Amino acid sequence: MSPPLQPDPAEPTVFLVGAGPGNPGLLTVRAAEVLARADLVLHDQLVPLRLLDVANPAAEKVCVRDLPGTHPDKYPHIHEMLIRYARAGKTVVRLKGGDPLVFGRGGEEAEALRTAGVGYEIVPGVTAALAAGAFLEIPLTHRNYASAVALVTGHELPNKPGNRLDWKALAAFPGTLCIYMGVARLPVIVAELLKHGKNPDTPAAIVERASTGEQRAVYARLADLEPARRNAGLEAPGLIVVGDPVAHRPAAAWWESRPLFGRRVLVTRPAHQAAGMVRRLEHLGAVVSQMPTVEIRPPADPAPLDRALAEVRDGGWDWLVFTSANGVHAVVRRLDELGRDLRDVGRVKFAAIGPKTADALREYRLRADVVPAETFSSEGLAAALAPHVAGHRVLLARANRGRDVIRVELAKVASVVGQVTTYDQTDTAAPDPGVLDALRRGEIRYVTLPSSRIAENLLAGFDDTIRGRVERGEVKLVAISPETGGAVRRLGYPVAAEATTFTIDGLIDALIRLVREEGTEHHP
Ligand code: SAH
Repeated sequence: MSPPLQPDPAEPTVFLVGAGPGNPGLLTVRAAEVLARADLVLHDQLVPLRLLDVANPAAEKVCVRDLPGTHPDKYPHIHEMLIRYARAGKTVVRLKGGDPLVFGRGGEEAEALRTAGVGYEIVPGVTAALAAGAFLEIPLTHRNYASAVALVTGHELPNKPGNRLDWKALAAFPGTLCIYMGVARLPVIVAELLKHGKNPDTPAAIVERASTGEQRAVYARLADLEPARRNAGLEAPGLIVVGDPVAHRPAAAWWESRPLFGRRVLVTRPAHQAAGMVRRLEHLGAVVSQMPTVEIRPPADPAPLDRALAEVRDGGWDWLVFTSANGVHAVVRRLDELGRDLRDVGRVKFAAIGPKTADALREYRLRADVVPAETFSSEGLAAALAPHVAGHRVLLARANRGRDVIRVELAKVASVVGQVTTYDQTDTAAPDPGVLDALRRGEIRYVTLPSSRIAENLLAGFDDTIRGRVERGEVKLVAISPETGGAVRRLGYPVAAEATTFTIDGLIDALIRLVREEGTEHHP
């Protein structure tokens, strides 16, 4: 589903949006729609920056942390900014963790907008309590154990002026208590509940970062919750859950059993191609960092491609061979820029190096005539194609750099083998210092390497500290193919795992196998 390209003039200009608990999959469709066309995204500090990936790339992104004032004196500035941008005709998304109306002061912001005569829409989000229920597998209500759920703030201290919480009523509440913002005051909260008669044996939990790969939880009887928290080193912010349903969870929650749960993985694909891989890793439970080392651009000089496309149109070539999905998209894009269309390549046969490249053709309703059955490499493609091209004229659509294997192999059988650059792969200027630091500290454990070129670029930026971690196996390199593995070993680094199917999915499968093997090493 794609959002409307033009804003609807009848729509409001400010959206008070819940971002959910942190897992990007829990952003609502509506939230993604309005983010995609925002001019300003004003987000809370706790909203993971990753969620801003779906926002309009041209949007101004401002964190409330950077506004003047300190809590609660920030609020006049937040309200002022929303109103000022709305009046200037901008589409504004005010993005908050969880749900905007659950301890999010969304009600106050809506009121300020109403008073100013600014139209708004409220987009609900998955609140922390619901995320904790789903991702820890605690049934918040249960026919036998809990007939109600209370969302409670742990921020209001008992015996302090302005406190509106009735701890006696909460201690007697016939259901599950979900206490927000309470971790720093846990001893007081537990003491109040016990003082008012709550059973000290009531099952309880604290969870931080529920729904993400960084989720951590502790469980204890209510009376022991604070020492359990301290032992586990859990700090605020976190959610406290108190009630019998906490005991009715499985030994291992589905989320924490995901194959890559909690594993820190580096994705090095070019930024515009990384989304699918990042999403799949996140869904497997991984905590993903990104550092692209190459970028894909249209060829610096398009003239050779234009000439080649004209030759294809005029019947000068029998086969057009694609060695990447990028090449397919580049050819179609260039035809479009030239005011031409797919009929220009309508009579040639197509070969694709692997399933993703064939899928790229399918996006344009084109079928690859040849795709290797199993080995998705230059060698595999040359072997699959050789029987088909004897005496034929073969044009290779390729990147500005890469290996020469296909040309050399096909030249043995084809009558002519030509090559044309359809896109340029260029090195990204500077590696991300934050990611390099995380590698130095050993925080990122797995580095995925989807091509030799990317591997060479990345490893060139490693210093002795990172090299030492790789050599000791504290940082592990996972290669998409033996060819990429070879490139890594030639640079003197060990390869922890190699894919057996040379695709991104194959690379992820190799990572899953590696993690599984490590698991059995640790618990034989
Ligand atoms: N509007 C948010 C709550 C904001 S108050 C919502 O609906 O979830 C901030 C508190 O929310 C934190 O102190 C913590 O108690 C809780 N919280 C938010 N996201 C959380 C998460 N992913 N895991 C655990 N607690 C979370």
